[in-house]
Amino acid sequence: MGRNVLLTDTLYRYLVDHSVREHPVLAGLRAETAKQKHAGMQIGADQGQFMALLTKLVGAKRCLEVGVFTGYSSLSVALALPEDGNIIALDVSEEWTSIARRYWKKAGVDKKIDLRLGPALATLDTLISLRQSGRFDMAFIDADKGNYLGYFERCLDLVRPGGLILIDNTLWSGDVAEPSNQKPDTVALRALNDALHNDERIDVALLPVGDGVTLARKR
Ligand code: CA
Repeated sequence: MGRNVLLTDTLYRYLVDHSVREHPVLAGLRAETAKQKHAGMQIGADQGQFMALLTKLVGAKRCLEVGVFTGYSSLSVALALPEDGNIIALDVSEEWTSIARRYWKKAGVDKKIDLRLGPALATLDTLISLRQSGRFDMAFIDADKGNYLGYFERCLDLVRPGGLILIDNTLWSGDVAEPSNQKPDTVALRALNDALHNDERIDVALLPVGDGVTLARKR
């Protein structure tokens, strides 16, 4: 077995201080979200920057986001997209996404983000029925864990070959490796991890970034 460095609070602080370049509007959004209930659902600045880098590596123009919350990840990706790039962003919460919309506008990227409120499985099925299969370059899944496999299947249909699907929280604070933890979300994430491990339609990597980020590249 290879070894990974143990990311203590001190070392994480170092990593952030020595690599993160946070856009001022992203920093403002982070601070406002930190005051909200469920603030822990916001991704770290390092993860946002990683997603921005992946956006450029993939050469993404058309993106999907399943689960917006207050918009940190979509703002990170939108800032990395070219002028004619866009994101279709799905969420069920008017309340959280109203914060997102304010910051997208503040950063001048609101025209790149098409927010669609409603259950994401239905919105993804609508995109498929509108012949959008294979039309997206990248997708980010960060929503209710019980539907993760359903979101993944639809995103796999919607991204092009060579396109990238990112999935958040796949290490679930370490709970996935604790067999005694049988909570529904933990069980769902284990099922997803096992399914992707054996899925020949993708190349896969599960990274210990944030709470665990899986990268799945469509073959
Ligand atoms: Ca998350």
